[in-house]
Amino acid sequence: MAPMADDHTHLPQLDPDEYRVKPGSSVDLSKWSTNTTDGFDGDKAQAQAVLLGLNERLGQLQQLLYAQAEHKMLIVLQGMDTSGKDGTIKHVFRTINPLGVKVANFKRPNDVELAHDYLWRIHEHTPRNGRMVIFNRSHYEDVLVVRVHDLVPEKVWKRRYEHIRGFEQMLADEGTVIVKLFLHISKKEQKARLQERLDNPAKHWKFEHGDISERAHWDAYTDAYEDAIAETSTKDAPWYVVPADRKWYRNLVVSQLLIDKLQSLDMDYPAPMDGIEDIRLED
Ligand code: AMP
Ligand code: MG
Repeated sequence: MAPMADDHTHLPQLDPDEYRVKPGSSVDLSKWSTNTTDGFDGDKAQAQAVLLGLNERLGQLQQLLYAQAEHKMLIVLQGMDTSGKDGTIKHVFRTINPLGVKVANFKRPNDVELAHDYLWRIHEHTPRNGRMVIFNRSHYEDVLVVRVHDLVPEKVWKRRYEHIRGFEQMLADEGTVIVKLFLHISKKEQKARLQERLDNPAKHWKFEHGDISERAHWDAYTDAYEDAIAETSTKDAPWYVVPADRKWYRNLVVSQLLIDKLQSLDMDYPAPMDGIEDIRLED
């Protein structure tokens, strides 16, 4: 029987920690599921109802984050083309007050950015207290696309893992909650999504020629992701390999994960100023 929209108690429990990459472990992405719906029976309507509840809870927690302004959260979104980075932002963050969130999109670096170190353009977008920032692609491109296309020598991208660990540790030490999400889709699912971009006029705008040439590098990207994730999944900046062939399940995992992280901060609204109850407004 389908549960009621507001009846969360009878729903399967989803534990996003199952998808966390333990520090120091090696990563073989073929061993991580792209299409599990663990605990859910695959009923999309049920998932939509659950997502609404999670959206609401996430909105409440974000308001608390903003009001208390003692913590900050950085969400790094990575994945192959069509893995659903944009869709995740659209569906998971729909109840988030735009006052407290920013999306930073990292595209091919321009000349000024290229003339600096690769973290220069990244750092200015990290969150301040009370804010959430979503990185739609990130500094990880500097060990992914850069490696796959030989944009810098191997010894240059290899030493970047250490910089990235250090950079993220510094952010965490200074009070940033970091969540890194690899949206994991199968090559077959990517084909279906690219075909949809070709077939559906409403999606034509999303199609780029580069999508086809990049797809030819699928295995090289997989190797690059496996190394990047293994090298940089740390206690304070963990990677999660999110099964993302089914968009609705991906949305549930990401939402629940962010809720769990925010809840663990045990936040509270700031105490009211002294004597607030005695303040009277004049006409
Ligand atoms: P999209 O996410 O579809 O808008 O595409 C953005 C493009 O920018 C992707 O092809 C990325 O690989 C590319 N990109 C992002 N960061 C870098 C970088 N640091 N170096 C080279 N290309 C990058
Ligand atoms: Mg693209």
